[in-house]
Formats: sequence, structure tokens, C-alpha cells
Amino acid sequence: MHAIEVFFIDVILPLSLERNFTYAITKAEADFIKRGVRVAVPFGKNKVYTGIVYNIHHIAPTAYEAKSIHSILDESPVVNQFQFKLWEWMSSYYLCSMGEIMRAAMPNAFLLESETIISLNPSTEFEVNSLKDDEYLVCEALQQQSSLKVDEINAIIDRKNSFPVLKRLLDQKVIALEQELSEKYKPKLIRCVRLHPNYQHENALQELVETLKSASKQREIVLSYFNLANATKQIKVADLKTKSKATSTQIKTLIDKGVFEEYHYQTDRIQFQDSEYGASTELNTYQETALEEIDGLFETQNIVLLHGVTSSGKTEIYVKMIESILAEGKQALYLVPEIALTSQLVQRLQKYFGNQIAVYHSRYSQNERVEVWNHVLNQSENARVVIGARSSVFLPFSNLGLVIVDEEHEQSYKQFDPSPRYHARDTAIVLAALFKAKTLLGSATPSLESFYNATKEHKFGYVAITKRFNNVLMPEIELVDLTDKYKRKRMKGHFSDRLIAEIKETLEAESQVILFQNRRGYSPVVSCNTCGHTPECPNCDVSLTFHQYRNQLRCHYCSHTMAMQQFCGACGGVEIDSKGFGTEQIQEEIEVLFPEAKVARMDLDTTRGKYSYDRIIASFENKEVDILVGTQMVTKGLDFRHVKLVGVLNADQLINFPDFRAHERSFQLLQQVAGRAGRTDERGKVIIQTYNPHHTILQQVSINDYDSMFVEQLEDRRIYKYPPYCRIIKLTLKHKDYNKVNEGAEWLAISLRHVFKDNVLGPEFPVVSRIRNQYHKNILLKIPQNQSLVKTKSVLQKIKMSFSSTRDFRAVRLLINVDNY
Ligand code: ADP
Ligand code: ZN
Repeated sequence: MHAIEVFFIDVILPLSLERNFTYAITKAEADFIKRGVRVAVPFGKNKVYTGIVYNIHHIAPTAYEAKSIHSILDESPVVNQFQFKLWEWMSSYYLCSMGEIMRAAMPNAFLLESETIISLNPSTEFEVNSLKDDEYLVCEALQQQSSLKVDEINAIIDRKNSFPVLKRLLDQKVIALEQELSEKYKPKLIRCVRLHPNYQHENALQELVETLKSASKQREIVLSYFNLANATKQIKVADLKTKSKATSTQIKTLIDKGVFEEYHYQTDRIQFQDSEYGASTELNTYQETALEEIDGLFETQNIVLLHGVTSSGKTEIYVKMIESILAEGKQALYLVPEIALTSQLVQRLQKYFGNQIAVYHSRYSQNERVEVWNHVLNQSENARVVIGARSSVFLPFSNLGLVIVDEEHEQSYKQFDPSPRYHARDTAIVLAALFKAKTLLGSATPSLESFYNATKEHKFGYVAITKRFNNVLMPEIELVDLTDKYKRKRMKGHFSDRLIAEIKETLEAESQVILFQNRRGYSPVVSCNTCGHTPECPNCDVSLTFHQYRNQLRCHYCSHTMAMQQFCGACGGVEIDSKGFGTEQIQEEIEVLFPEAKVARMDLDTTRGKYSYDRIIASFENKEVDILVGTQMVTKGLDFRHVKLVGVLNADQLINFPDFRAHERSFQLLQQVAGRAGRTDERGKVIIQTYNPHHTILQQVSINDYDSMFVEQLEDRRIYKYPPYCRIIKLTLKHKDYNKVNEGAEWLAISLRHVFKDNVLGPEFPVVSRIRNQYHKNILLKIPQNQSLVKTKSVLQKIKMSFSSTRDFRAVRLLINVDNY
């Protein structure tokens, strides 16, 4: 006789659990359940979670009795086999749980839990008659009480678990999760005009010219309109104004007269007619050659690095590659750093791909994310090209043919918190490999790692473009010596006479200016006011940071300390400064210097609102602003047409940042910000103010010498044992009790040193050692190239386990950050 057949499923829960949980299912359920469907399961005392079925088997768990599930939520999988493979890789590489990955990967709306708060969706009107009884009960309750927890809804419809009902209502968009209601989606609307239907015929132009015979300004506007209409379908009011030099009132008159009709369109969602997008641009010879080289390399390589100077036209090359992948019937993923994902870029791509583009980023609402997820899952026509920020590597592709990682050097591709602390570029490469698809990394200033992988290790193919599109020369870069300028009293505030003169000239030529001031790092680095010197750690090649409470300078990698200096170690000066200045101060100063100019500021403070970033960019594009003062944000791949001058107020703050990548980053950032100047036809100009005009990094920036920068930085990395010569894992301990953190960190460091010897640095308090009442302490683990990564991680896991099971440390949180960039 056979034993009664029993069935179990392993379920991934969206929590940071060490392992998946096993539940019992019935034979009938087993017939229905597939890997990748969602189930509602009980967990803990009274909680219900949405989990993903990871495995179906016959083996009962030994440590606990398997509970049964509440319900199955999907008929077919919402997570596919490729995703599971990716999750598995991430979990073992980044040392995190599948549940943490699941939480990061899936739109929240997919993951109902008992605590989730539900409301009616105000933007959907529902038909009472079309609702099932239980659905109706939920809606009725929500009409009386604007929001309810899932738990409460369970009680109302008298069920242990209301997930299936809620899922149906979510699918119909009748209800929504509370959190997204609080961040209501406000799309950016662009004001446009089109001809009134009365004039939408062939002879409209003639007829209008006739009608407006006596109104010459209006006639001119109409002519400009027709002119613009030759090039584009959407005629923005702003463009029409510039083109015809008209005022808003004059355009309004034409609207009132019934010549034009006003409408608004949404820039970051795509509602194009098929006929409204067209063939891509013809490439110039440099682009053409690059494209051929890339294709050639892809015959034998899976990854190619495209190193094209700023404004060399990389985007157009991506477009060609995407076109051929679409022709093969496959999906393409185009990754950009979150901040670079502007309507500017989306519009540019819409022109070629129209409806086939889906955009995926964190500013989107849950509904929209679910929409994109489903489009990708179903291989819909509407998501054949996904353009997205780092989390789009999680989308359920099933037929991916190409991944493009633009601005591959961007550090924002790395997620710091919460876990999974993944790097989207590296993850994208693994994702592509699962599909045997190709990955193209693009940058004007590649990361040291990628350039090393391409040119030294030959793991990647390498293609370069050294010419800007249109053969515009790279901007001329002038270094201005602040020491000298201060000495000779040639400074007004933070502006040198050179910078002021160039700004004046640029404004007179009706061109635009970008002023770059690095947000003062959270790290208080000190520097000499006379010569700009900053003290450095003799062991780590990074700047020391100032710790006020002990009046000390410390290295926050290795704990090297020295007393705060009374005199500058380089020039003997006595004014040693730890304050610095920010964008706001620069804005104030420039407004005094150039009271006529319109100035805008772009930094964290001015871009908090969801669309404020796009708004600032748009007003700068439309020349409503003459001078844009900004931080890093102004550098991210923006394509401005009228910027002639870029001024960098103080390059030293970048170079002296206490991080082993500070020099590489300074080079990248300065090249990128310089790259905003002179993108159209005339050569741009860049002024970099510094106390160290002879610093090698600045010399390399000024002549665009990436190769020397690479050789020199690589040598430093070799000497001081940094990536790419070793990998770095950062361990962070957190607890509200200072002593616990200290003792835990000591214990951990000793255990690690036992195995990894000198390759353990710290423990050391970071510059900001207390955040939200929690003390932080870090340990760095360096993993040399010849040391097994897998073994290292398994040792680390074991040490982590014994740490967490030590009574004193149980409450201390231990975070692991692999490849801490
Ligand atoms: P990158 O991404 O390398 O910085 P872009 O792709 O933004 O450069 O191109 C720079 C500018 O040159 C853009 O305004 C783009 O529209 C224009 N451009 C690039 N390639 C072409 C082409 N083949 N035909 C017409 N314009 C182009
Ligand atoms: Zn050090």
C-alpha cells in the first residue's frame, strides 16, 4: 500500500529570514499551484503575508509542523524562472535573504499583508452591479471608513483571509494601497497648441494668412507654428514663443480667436500613435564605426564597454542596437541612474520607439509599476523596451535580448540600504547572461573596474569614440589658482575675476552658465585656507576627517589618528577651515554679482517635490533661466543646447573627499560637468577654481586624459589594496547602546582577523557615528584576487551566525555590504 501522498511548498516571505518557510498543501491545491504564484500564508502569531511559491515537494519540515496555506492568489506565475535564478545569484553574492530580494523586486501592491492599509481608489469609479458580494461588502465598508487594515477587512467579510477579494479589487483598480494615495501621482504636463479643427485641412495656412492680413504679429506666430509643425507633432507653447518671439498674451489671443486649440500632454507616459514615431537618426562615421565594432565584438564577447566622450552620440548608438533587438522579437532593458531618468531622455526615445517603451522608476505609483510589471511578464508590445532605474533589473523578462547600462560608472547604481545591497550594473550583467543576451556598458568616464575589465583583463570588449557629435571640440578647461587669486585680492566672495569675466561674456552672448558646487560632503574634511592642503592618512591614501569632540583627525578606514593641526603641514598657515560652503551661498553671491541674470538652483533642497527636478530642467532648457547653480545633479547626462560656460567653484572639496575613490570620482564628475558645456556647435569653456592647480587629477581633467588617470589610479589601488585588486565587504554594526556596538565590533573583528589576518580593517566609527539614536561601527574586509570569494563568504556567514547567537550581541544589527563602492 502507498503512503498517502503529501505535498509541501517552500514559500519566500518578504522578510529577512535565514530560510524559506515550508507549508502544507492539499492534493487539489498541488494540482493548481505552480512555482512563482503568490499564496497567502499565516506567519507568526496572527499575521498573514503574501509569499511566493519557490518549490513544490513531498518532504515535511523537521523543525516545525507545516501550517497550511490560506489561499492561492494567482492562476499563473507572477515571478518567472529567470527571476528565481537571478534572485538565487543575488542572495548568495550579496549575502542577503530571498525575502529581502523579493521585497525589493516586486511592486508593493503585489504584497498584501495583514498590516497593509487599503482605501478606495478615488480615480476609479466602480459599478456596484459589477461587484461580487464580498467585493461589495469591502467597498461599502471603505465608503464609511476611508481606510482599513487588511485585518479589519477580514473581520468585516468574516474570513480568515481577504487577500483573494482584495486582489480582485486591486486588479480592477477599485481599491488602492494607502501609502500610494499619500503620494498621489502628478504627471508633468506640457502646454501645447494645435490648429483648431476648423483649420486642420490642406489650405489652412493660406486661409489663415488671408484672415490675419491685418495682424502681422499673429500671422508671424502662425507661420512659426507651421514651421515647427514640419519637425514635430507636439508644438509646445514655450517653443512657439521662442520661435516667433511672441508673448503669452499674443498666443492667447490666437487661442481665443479659435485659431489654436490648447492641450496638455504628459511627458513621462507614452500615448503615441503608431504613426507618430519614426526611423532613428542616421549615424555619423564615428558612430557607425563604433556600432560595427560593438557588433563585431558581440560575436565573441557578452559584454562590451563603450567609452565615448561626452556628447559623442552614445544614445543614438543605443537606439540602433535596440532597434535590431526588437527586430529579432526580443526585449531590451535600458538602465540609467535614477536621477538621469528625465523626461528629456524619455521623450528622445519615444520619438523612435513610441508605445513600445515602458518607463520604470521609483517616482511611479504602485499602479503604474504593476502595469509595467504585467506588460513585461506578458511580453506585451507595450514594454518591449524598458527604460528604468536600478530596480528595473527585477522585472519579469522572459525574452531579453539586450541590456544597456548607461553612465555605468555612476555610484547610484549601488543600493546601500536596505538589503539587498546590490549593484545594478553587475546584476544586469548576470541577468543578461541568464538569457545569453548581450550587455553594453556606456560611459564617457568608465569606472576603473570596467575599464580594467575591458582593457587589462579582456573580460569585456572595448570600443571608444573620441569625437563629439558635429565635431564640436571638447570644452576648453582653464584651471584658476585660488591661492594666487586670494593673495592678489582678485576674489569677490567665492568668485575669481576670471570666472566673473567669463560669466559676463557668456551672458552677454545670451548663452547659459552652469555653476557647480559639490554639496559639502557629510564628512568634515579640514583644509588650509591659504594653500588648500588637506591632511591624509599615511596607510590608506584618503583624507583624514575632523572629529570635533576629541579635536582629532582620524582615518575612518583604519583608525589612524592625529591631533587636529594648529598649523598647516604644507605651508605653515594658521587658518585651518572645516566649514566649506554650499550651493545656496553661491546662489546668493551670484545674484548680487549679476542682479540682471535669472538664477536657479538645483540641489537636494530644491528638488524634493516629485516633479521639481524636471521643472528646473525644463525652465533651463527653455531659457527661462540664465545661470543654473547645482550639485552633482546637474551633471547627469543632461543634454542642454545653450550652455557655453561651466564654472566649478572649488574642486578641492571633491578631491579631498575621504574615500579611496575620491580621485577617480573627481575626474568623472569634473569631466561630466564639463561635458555640459558647448554641446551644439560652438566650443564650450570650463573654469575650475582650485587651490591645487597642479594636482595630477586636475591636470588630467584639463586635457581629457582618461588613460593617464587610469594608469595612475590603478597603481594606487594596487599599492593600497583596493578594487579591482581586491574586493571589499563592509560590515556595519548598529545598536542604541554605545558599549554594545563597541564590544560586538571588537568580538567580530577578532574573529575575522583570526581567519583573514591583515585584510581586516577597523572596527572604526564612521564620520557620522550616531544616526537616529543608533551607534554605527564599521569593519572592512578586503578579499584579495586570489582568495576564493565563495569560501570567504561562507566563513563570513558562519562568523555572522555565531555572532548573532551570542547572547550579548543578539540585539545588535549586523549589516553586510558586499562590494561596498
Ligand atoms: P552622449 O550620450 O554620448 O553624451 P548624445 O547621444 O546625447 O551624446 O548626443 C549628443 C547630441 O548630439 C544630442 O543632442 C544628439 O541629439 C545629437 N546627435 C547624436 N548623434 C546624432 C546623429 N547621428 N544625428 C543627429 N544628431 C545626433
Ligand atoms: Zn587609514
